[in-house]
Amino acid sequence: MKCPVCGCEYFYVKNPDNPHKYYQFTCKNGETHFSAEVNEDEVPEITDEIQTHCVQCVWQGEYGKLVD
Ligand SMILES: [Zn+2]
Repeated sequence: MKCPVCGCEYFYVKNPDNPHKYYQFTCKNGETHFSAEVNEDEVPEITDEIQTHCVQCVWQGEYGKLVD
């Protein structure tokens, strides 16, 4: 999956309880893969509605808006 603006394949979501904490991931074949340094126990559930941010540009939007 790619950013609809720049085509980047890396994204992050913020911790809903701590906006300074975020979790980077990539999405391949509909599956999310978090970076090695991410503690997956802390990661919020990834739903189509979760606010997702592109690491490369200013795009942010719902996870379901990522393009194939
Ligand atoms: Zn982007």
